[in-house]
Amino acid sequence: MKIIIPRPIISKLFEHALLEDPNECCGLLIGKENKVRNIQKCQNIHSSPITRYTIEPKDLLKAENFSDENNMEILAIYHSHTHSQAYPSSTDIENAIESMWTNPYYILISLVEKTRPIIRAYKILEDKNVEEVIIEHDGQAYISPTKNS
Ligand SMILES: [Zn+2]
Repeated sequence: MKIIIPRPIISKLFEHALLEDPNECCGLLIGKENKVRNIQKCQNIHSSPITRYTIEPKDLLKAENFSDENNMEILAIYHSHTHSQAYPSSTDIENAIESMWTNPYYILISLVEKTRPIIRAYKILEDKNVEEVIIEHDGQAYISPTKNS
């Protein structure tokens, strides 16, 4: 499994995460056939935005309409972790399954090290297992350095 995210969109993801810090940012990546073409930044309306996120429903609707109009689909949901690693939390996994949004990929941006944000992609499966998805950009695989490398 892989998702192709052009470099300018990866930069926008980092920018969005740093802008909202210490709150979590969230949004949607729209595209076609595993290639992201558009980023839709969303408002995080959760009452505890430092550790949780909820996408503003109007933003979601806007993204769905944009996707339909342009013959694309919502490929991924992204959000940041400002104080933890780029891995879905147990809440993230439960929410994905409860909302039945297991089709899109989940993109996590970690700001544990602000000078070196980490981005990773996952597939959350209905049995609560999580599989890492490779992020490619400009034809090259992008694998974030692990914490100790
Ligand atoms: Zn999370």
